[in-house]
Amino acid sequence: MPSLSSSSMLLHRSQRLARAWPQSSAPSARFPTTCRAFCSSKPLASSPPSSEPATPLASATPPLKPSAPMKVLLHSCCAPCSGAMVEKMASDGHKVTIFFYNPNIQPRKEYEIRKQENIRYAERLGIPIVDADYDVENWMARTKGMEFDPERGRRCSVCFDMRMEVTAQYAHDHNFDCFTTTNATSRWKDTQQVNKSGLQAAAKFGFRPYYWVYDWQTDEMTARKYRINAEQRFYKQEYCGCTYSLRDSNLWRKQQGIAPVKIGGEEAGLGTRYYEDAEADAAEESQEVVDSFFSSAEQHFHNASVYNGRMRQDVPAGETQEELLRAKNNW
Ligand code: SF4
Repeated sequence: MPSLSSSSMLLHRSQRLARAWPQSSAPSARFPTTCRAFCSSKPLASSPPSSEPATPLASATPPLKPSAPMKVLLHSCCAPCSGAMVEKMASDGHKVTIFFYNPNIQPRKEYEIRKQENIRYAERLGIPIVDADYDVENWMARTKGMEFDPERGRRCSVCFDMRMEVTAQYAHDHNFDCFTTTNATSRWKDTQQVNKSGLQAAAKFGFRPYYWVYDWQTDEMTARKYRINAEQRFYKQEYCGCTYSLRDSNLWRKQQGIAPVKIGGEEAGLGTRYYEDAEADAAEESQEVVDSFFSSAEQHFHNASVYNGRMRQDVPAGETQEELLRAKNNW
């Protein structure tokens, strides 16, 4: 059964920006991605994985006009991605509960670190957090056959689907008005892919609760995210979460002559172990860093096709070829 802890309440303030790495060669401390989370509930039966990457959201998306106060279940992948979102929701008068369900985070040591960071933050804010099951066997079963799929491809759709399904079930069973996820805050993620999973999960319950679609990646929100992360000195994870993303991260690092990812401890394999400087931390994930990595993708894996599925799907039409490629850059 899920465990729920609550406590006192308080909030913070923030900003962000960039610095440090020479932009042409700047390695990202967390190739290929960021993030992670926890909570409890019954493992879902292994349903067939989505066979497609992100597609445009259904036109049947219900109108979302959040009016305070709402009872919101926020699926959180990790503390660093939840800070600004929680603050925004709370300051707008919503009643937030954090839901930590992330069987995708492996190994267990990394999972526990990320979970404890999220619990620490929730308790500091005085908001409830639900600690869900770590049903990693189910996650492995559902992603079987996709071990070498690129990030943002089919495996990630299955990964989001699974976490959104469990979150939606809990939200439905506990009378939440809506749910959403911190995965929507990361610039490494395809927002449309994330939201598609959330909407599909909500549809299974007739959109009661509904999935809250919102632009959580504005400059203001992103700046706030890094500021809070530095203020809280959160643990800085160095890969997305699953064992396959850890493998790919270390492969890329080896090719770059960079030390492998370190799980736990006081020193990271690359960069700082903890968030401590909002501008420097943001710089590690700046568009230049992302573009630099993506532009040399072929020499990393000697197979450019690996990256095709990692392109963003949610870019506006009508851009020049160069602008479109940059906008679609998923790295
Ligand atoms: S890289 Fe792994 S942990 Fe990250 S979203 Fe994709 S499947 Fe999930």
